[in-house]
Amino acid sequence: MTAASLRGASGEFPSERKSILILSGCLCFVIQSRKRYEEKSRDMITQVRAKKHLGQHFLKDLSIARRIAESLELTVPTDVLEIGPGMGVLTQYLLKDPNARLTAVEIDHESVDYLREYYPELHLVEGDFLRMRLEDLYGGSFCVIGNFPYNISSQIFFRVLDYKDRIPCVVGMLQKEVAERLAEPPGSKTYGILSVLLQAYYDIDYLFTVDETVFAPPPKVKSAVIRMRRNGRVSLDCDERLFVRVVKTAFNQRRKQLRNSLRPLIGKCDVADGNEENKILDDRPERLSVEDFVRLTQFVSKHLVTSEQ
Ligand code: SAH
Repeated sequence: MTAASLRGASGEFPSERKSILILSGCLCFVIQSRKRYEEKSRDMITQVRAKKHLGQHFLKDLSIARRIAESLELTVPTDVLEIGPGMGVLTQYLLKDPNARLTAVEIDHESVDYLREYYPELHLVEGDFLRMRLEDLYGGSFCVIGNFPYNISSQIFFRVLDYKDRIPCVVGMLQKEVAERLAEPPGSKTYGILSVLLQAYYDIDYLFTVDETVFAPPPKVKSAVIRMRRNGRVSLDCDERLFVRVVKTAFNQRRKQLRNSLRPLIGKCDVADGNEENKILDDRPERLSVEDFVRLTQFVSKHLVTSEQ
């Protein structure tokens, strides 16, 4: 129907035709603005530009996102902190979980703008997870979840250790090889500093592997999801700060026997060879369990060189 066909012989619009015109005008306006809104949302999805320095690889596969969110397995109302929500692919499922009291922390201003527009109900903090005082966010304990920025995943886990008595559970996606390392038992080649420190306080499950093709842009490596649950250890049977130093010093030269790699701490330790206590020094760090490292720390604390005391 054109405007010309609605005109009367005089060239004027009769009043009922005027109403039809106004109505169809309104309809057109509604359709146009809806279209513009949809285009905007499509634009914005492609517009949150992936920034390499922020480790941004956006997950595209919704079933994997749902599976990660569900891996928290919350059974009672719980405070949950999501690190790096990006464009909210995990967030949307966490928001639907009746037991998750969600807060998200995101460093990227562009993602923050996006989230504020599309998830106005989300409690969102703009900032750097590695620098924020988490005690200002929560009075008590909280779980941590995220498709972590891979460039800082180790730092995230060191931060979790700082708050281990407040963080009962972590679900995270990270590089597959790092995930394997964290969950690996002693004796394997990749068992390292974070494996020992985290396994001292957490039981770690490797949940599933995720292919690089489900991200935009795809990362160069495969990914994996792990879940960590706080174990029953309240404290270690040794000086815990020294424990961390012993683990780090030992793995600094992981191929060396401990009697050599630990020299900065114990010097040229002269405990007689064959002494049971001393035997552990013949070993290499990747073969030691958490309990072995606790014993080693007790030993080191007795033989610390004077400048270390
Ligand atoms: N969860 C989203 C995005 C994952 S990419 C998804 O699965 O699609 C990692 C996200 O962490 C990005 O949004 C990035 O901006 C954010 N990020 C990177 N470093 C951060 C930091 N220090 N603190 C908080 N968020 C960070």
